[in-house]
Amino acid sequence: MNRISNELNKIVNRSLDRHVRLAVTGLSRAGKTAFITSLINQLLHVSTNARLPMFSAVRDGHLLGAKRVPQLDLHVPKFGYDEGMQSILSTPPAWPEPTRDVSQTRLALRYKPQKGALKLFQDTATLYLDIIDYPGEWLLDLPLLDLDFLAWSKQQNQVLKGKRLELATDWLALTESFDPFAPADEKQIEQISAAFTAYLHQCKAEGGLHWVQPGRFVLPGELAGAPVLQFFPLLWDQKYPEKQLLDADENTNIGMLRSRYKYYQQHVVKAFYNDHFSKFDRQIILVDCLQPLNAGPESFNDMRQALDQLMQSFKYGRSSLLRRLFSPRIDKVLFAATKADHITPEQHPNLVGLLQQLVNEAWQTASFEGINMDCVSLASIQATEPGFVTHQGQQVPALRGSDMAGNPQTLFPGEVPKRLPNEAFWQQHSFDFINFRPLPQQSDEPLPHIRMDKALEYLLGDKLQ
Ligand code: GDP
Repeated sequence: MNRISNELNKIVNRSLDRHVRLAVTGLSRAGKTAFITSLINQLLHVSTNARLPMFSAVRDGHLLGAKRVPQLDLHVPKFGYDEGMQSILSTPPAWPEPTRDVSQTRLALRYKPQKGALKLFQDTATLYLDIIDYPGEWLLDLPLLDLDFLAWSKQQNQVLKGKRLELATDWLALTESFDPFAPADEKQIEQISAAFTAYLHQCKAEGGLHWVQPGRFVLPGELAGAPVLQFFPLLWDQKYPEKQLLDADENTNIGMLRSRYKYYQQHVVKAFYNDHFSKFDRQIILVDCLQPLNAGPESFNDMRQALDQLMQSFKYGRSSLLRRLFSPRIDKVLFAATKADHITPEQHPNLVGLLQQLVNEAWQTASFEGINMDCVSLASIQATEPGFVTHQGQQVPALRGSDMAGNPQTLFPGEVPKRLPNEAFWQQHSFDFINFRPLPQQSDEPLPHIRMDKALEYLLGDKLQ
């Protein structure tokens, strides 16, 4: 009898266990790897010495514990939590190596249900949390699904101004001898594609620019070196009639570019949305607002444009591109301004204000049906200590930490604008946000953070009721 009731209990338990897929994204260096490492670390400490007062499940004692369990998607690389922690705990401490592809990890969260059927049937329940990390650059590719090769080429042509034009010199020089109607020359296409890819990398690395398309060219993951990443936009400058370009057959140079572009649309962009994105329940988008403030107006405006593009993936209006592909299920999106420990605490509200301004305009004018959105500022792994220093007889806020070379630093990095900075602002203000090394940690203590608990509450609070 006892056995039967045990079995019954198990069946009921299994059917009532729940599951949430939390996706973490952001442009490269936004702080995804640090965020996921800290998130796992904070959850693994809930039963011992959690520091998560704003996470209600922990504050009220409902969340009993968390453990890592094998992930279900065996074809997706595992997120390198152990490697990340090893870096942080090493002497001297170092930041985890960022991931450059999609990766995943699974946690089982044991909790005491507070509501509904779960409370009736069970003392404890399990929430399985899949955390999926993917580069935000991949979301910049969504608009490609609505553009054919020539329309995409025209768009790329239009943005070739300022810094981009300067950085494109080598690529443009190589395209001069490119005849779109000549028989397809794979070697030449490979060469020009390499110059185009180098240009995209430079846009990010040297230009501080974020909007780079196609996204996989800079973060290819397992596709590195594949012909699907060897094409480039055609800059034909009215030299040829558009009809002639459209009519050229498959065996010409333009034919090969067109078919690779199409292959990229179908097998790279669409496949990501079908295989991964369509299965996400919750999304956090990490944004480093401080780096573009350091880099200047062009970089800042470019990041704004990249964010606008990124948000297109959450526009689920009835006739949207995504609705045509699948029925989306994301119901909550959190935008997080990362690395809040780079600025003094009284600047944190400004950082949130700035992020809100960056995303709100696009959010309000689009149809983000059925999705809740919020903004927060956080530091996944706090690398500085806030305090005050005396300057000309006055107490002024300051940060203390070590730079990447290990030299102690005490500084006031600058003021963060509350609103989108205008021309006058750029002329009057200068920023000095340096990179800090993580502080030395004890392996049995949770990582120090700022507002990770607020993010957890928004993303998981209702799932642990
Ligand atoms: P990813 O490319 O989005 O995975 O970005 P990472 O997580 O690798 O972060 C990029 C860099 O940003 C790190 O190497 C750190 O220098 C810095 N960083 C990330 N998160 C934090 C944080 O919470 N505080 C501080 N001070 N720096 C951070």
